[in-house]
Amino acid sequence: MKEDRSVNVKISRIGKVTEPMKSVIETREVMSPKAGQVLIKIKSSAICGSDIHIFKGKHPSAPLPMTIGHEFSGDVAEVGEGVTSVAVGDRVTVEPCIVCGTCDACRHGDYGYCENISFTYRNGDGAMADYILINEPYVYKLPEYLNYDTGSLIEPLSVAAHAVRRGDIRLGETVLVIGAGAIGMLVAAICRKSGAAEVIIADHSDDRLAAAEKLGATMTVNSGKVNLEEEIFRITNGKGVDKSFECVGLEATFLQAMMTLKKNGMATIIGIFENPRINIPASRFVTHEIKIQGAQGYCWDFPIALKIARELDLELLITHHFSLDDIQKALETCLDRKSGSIKVLLHP
Ligand SMILES: [Zn+2]
Ligand SMILES: [Zn+2]
Repeated sequence: MKEDRSVNVKISRIGKVTEPMKSVIETREVMSPKAGQVLIKIKSSAICGSDIHIFKGKHPSAPLPMTIGHEFSGDVAEVGEGVTSVAVGDRVTVEPCIVCGTCDACRHGDYGYCENISFTYRNGDGAMADYILINEPYVYKLPEYLNYDTGSLIEPLSVAAHAVRRGDIRLGETVLVIGAGAIGMLVAAICRKSGAAEVIIADHSDDRLAAAEKLGATMTVNSGKVNLEEEIFRITNGKGVDKSFECVGLEATFLQAMMTLKKNGMATIIGIFENPRINIPASRFVTHEIKIQGAQGYCWDFPIALKIARELDLELLITHHFSLDDIQKALETCLDRKSGSIKVLLHP
């Protein structure tokens, strides 16, 4: 006898990187949600820097083949038994991590440090797809001031919010953000909102710097044209900056983040290092009593990002739109320096 549920099986396309620089669209069946699950019809899915590291086959913790996509928004298509926080038709976005809830970190509420943390896309549930099944606690309703496109950017905004909160910005401080990709721009915008008086952002692209300025950076430096360290000490009258954020993932930019700090300053490293072994002048830690910390992912940052998104023009980040079937072209556009891409969105 045929099971009744089978009528609710949906066929979903899903994007996957199979080998370096090669992506394909596969199809698979998506079942109706079980108790506590939410089925989402994806509307917008943004390509993240980490998707590009995977596309290049160089992500340090995501070996190929791998489904990709974790920044997305859509409509609730079906809900499983017991789901109360969202209903069919709600516009939603998703916190795409999966944590265990039982390890020491989770029990302390520090789920970002979960010993068993994973991400939906690493479990074969990439969001470059028509449908995705998500557990209810990770689903957030979109406020009316966000559309599907800007709603898909709540994930990177949460990453930036997490980094800035760790960066402990104080009223009146001078901050340097290195790298005007989406994360760098959002970090700069949130630093300003957090009370920094001067937020300097550095990048090689004048177009990106112009967008960063519109989002809230107070000063821009084209670090392809001038020596960034010299320029920062010139701007700060030889003092250096209170805080810096490294949003690139290279030895040169790591060095810039540490060498531009004033004494007792703090750098926060967010970039993904394809080449993790770098050389740094260790004595600087002692002579300048500087601090360097990392920031990754999020922990209770989604609700904050959803609130602060109201005051940020996230549309400024969105440069390209592609249909899901054009995933290969979309990924290549992200790698093409001449494309002027910041955030590239896929639409199923
Ligand atoms: Zn991301
Ligand atoms: Zn845990």
